[in-house]
Parts: sequence; structure tokens; C-alpha cells
Amino acid sequence: MEEFDHDKEHPLEVEILSRDGSIREGYLVLSERTPQERVVRAVQAFFLWMLAALISLFIPMLHFILVPAFILVALFMGANGLFDVFKVESGEITCARCGTVNHIEAQNETYPIHIDCDHCDARMTAYRAAAGELTG
Ligand SMILES: [Zn+2]
Repeated sequence: MEEFDHDKEHPLEVEILSRDGSIREGYLVLSERTPQERVVRAVQAFFLWMLAALISLFIPMLHFILVPAFILVALFMGANGLFDVFKVESGEITCARCGTVNHIEAQNETYPIHIDCDHCDARMTAYRAAAGELTG
């Protein structure tokens, strides 16, 4: 894991694959969550799924399966939140079909990211480029 300064934005190259098979490049601007943000997310996810486990206690028969399942999910999602370091702040992805620049909204950093072109509605899929992070 590389070390980054906090509050610094990280441009990340992505490869855009469109439905017709052509490949374009785009970029996403990532920001790093602070350790506090990660803990808050982890705790929220954990308690949300534990609440689901608690509610499923009252479902006859199914609770034998649902309660342990939701507890496992709570542990998993909680741990996942801790390691979910980056989030997507914004980005620009050029449509491979019509060339329109599509702006990416803030979201979690999970790949692939699906985008429909604002102009021609072409479906595109963004993958993290093999080159990884750009410098600067
Ligand atoms: Zn387009």
C-alpha cells in the first residue's frame, strides 16, 4: 500500500470499454478517507447489519439461518469499511462513440464503474488502468 498525504486528491487513469469494443481513457479524482471517516463507516455498516440480525430474530424458523448470516455480513462489512480507503470525488470519461465528456459523480471506489453517455446513451464501463496512479 502506497502512502499518500491526507486531503490530497489523486488522479487515477481508467480505461473505458464501450459496448462496441473500443477503448478510451479517462480519469477519476480520488480522495483518501481519514482514519476517523473509515472507523465511522465501519461502525455504521456493522450496526446496520447487526440491526438486521436483531430484526430477523423475530422471524420464525428463518432466524436460524438469517441471524448468523447477518452477523457474518456485519463483521465483513465493518471490516470492509475500515479498508475502504479511497472514494471517487469526480472524474471525466470521454465517450468512445461520440466524444462527449461525461462527468462522474462522487461515489464509492468500486470497479467496474458503469456510465451511460449523456449525449448518445452509449453504455461504458470504466476499469482501473493497469498503469495505476498518475503522479502529481
Ligand atoms: Zn456518447
